[in-house]
Amino acid sequence: MLDLLIIGAGPAGISAAFEAKRAGLDYLVVEKHLIGSTIYKYPIGLTVFSTVDELELVAGTLNPAREKPTREELLSYYTRFVLENDLNIHTEEEVIKVEKLGEGHFGTTTTKGVYEARAVLFAIGAMDHVRRLNVPGEDLPKVHHLFRETYPYVRKNAMVIGGGNSAGEAALFLAQEGANAILAIFRDDWENNDPKQGCIKYWVKQPLEEELSKDCLNVFFLKRVIEIREKDIVLEGEDGERRVFPNDVLFVLIGADAELGLLKELGVSTRKGKYGEVPEYDEETFETNVSGVYVVGHFTNARHIAGAITVPRKIIPQIAAKMNGS
Ligand SMILES: Cc1cc2nc3c(=O)[nH]c(=O)nc-3n(C[C@H](O)[C@H](O)[C@H](O)COP(=O)(O)OP(=O)(O)OC[C@H]3O[C@@H](n4cnc5c(N)ncnc54)[C@H](O)[C@@H]3O)c2cc1C
Repeated sequence: MLDLLIIGAGPAGISAAFEAKRAGLDYLVVEKHLIGSTIYKYPIGLTVFSTVDELELVAGTLNPAREKPTREELLSYYTRFVLENDLNIHTEEEVIKVEKLGEGHFGTTTTKGVYEARAVLFAIGAMDHVRRLNVPGEDLPKVHHLFRETYPYVRKNAMVIGGGNSAGEAALFLAQEGANAILAIFRDDWENNDPKQGCIKYWVKQPLEEELSKDCLNVFFLKRVIEIREKDIVLEGEDGERRVFPNDVLFVLIGADAELGLLKELGVSTRKGKYGEVPEYDEETFETNVSGVYVVGHFTNARHIAGAITVPRKIIPQIAAKMNGS
C-alpha cells in the first residue's frame, strides 16, 4: 500500500512528488501523457510570462538564456528535475477510477494497473476539455482549439477567436511571421488591461498594437460567431452587422476546463468558480470534503505555476505528519 498516489505530472504533481520523497512517503505519480504535458502543448518557441523564481522547484536551478524561459527551456527543466531527483512517475498511464475503500484506504485503477494508497492527491490541471463555440462548421479540419506554431500559415488567411493571453499570443505569432491575421475579440477583453484578469498581458498587447499600426494584423470586435465554412467565416460585429471573412485556418482559443468526473464519483463537492467549476476544499490543507482526497494546481484557486509549486511544499509535510500520527 502506497502512502500517497498523485495524479498528474505537471508542475503541481512534480512539486508534490519531490516533497513526498523528502518527507519519506511511499508515493507514486501517475501521468496520462508526458512529464509537463501542458507545457509541451504550449506554442513552440513561446516565452512564458512568469519569472524564474515563480517557476523553479528549487531556487537557483532554472537558468534560461534570457530573462524568462521559453517553452523548451521550461519543459527541459521540469523533465530533468524529475530524472535527476529520480522521482517515481509513470507516464502514459491514465487514472480511470478512484474509490474510497475505507478510512485512509483508496483503490486507484489506471489503464495499466491497480494501486492502493492511504491518500490521493489530484494534480490534474484544467486543460482536459477545450471550450468550443458550438457553431456550425466547428468540426471542419481547418479549425483548431490549440495553437502550436505559425509556419504552415504564412500568407494564409488566419483568424484567432478569443480574448485571453493565449489568443493574443497566437495572433501575434501569426501576424509577426507573415500570415494575414485577424484577432476576433470582444471589445471588453481587448480594452481590459487589468493584469489580474484573464486578459492579454501588456507585453503581448503592446506588440499586437504595433502589428496593428503596421497593418500586419486586424482586430475585429465581435458580438458572436455565426458560421464557419470551408473558405470563409461569418461573424456578427459589435454593431450587429454580419461580415464574411475569407478564411483558411481558424484558432478557437477560448479556454479549457478540468475533468472533474473522478472527483465527483468519489463524492467530492464542486462549486462554480470565477473560471468554471472547481472542487471544494479547505483553503489551508487543500483536503476536500472526502477525507484523504487532496487537490492542488491549476483547477484550484492557486491557478498559476507559482501556486501549483508552492502549495505542495506546505501540504505534503502536513499530510506526512498526519500519517505518522504527529
Ligand atoms: C500557452 C500557455 C502559456 C502559459 N504560460 C504560463 C506562465 O507563463 N506562467 C504560469 O504560471 N502559467 C502559465 N500557463 C498556465 C500553466 O500551464 C498552468 O498553470 C500549469 O500547467 C498548472 O500546473 P498543474 O500541474 O496544476 O497542471 P498541468 O500542468 O495541466 O498538469 C496536469 C497533468 O495531469 C495530467 N492528468 C490529467 N488527468 C489525468 C488522469 N486522469 N490520469 C493521469 N494524468 C492526468 C495531465 O496530462 C497533465 O500533465 C500557461 C498556459 C498556457 C496554455
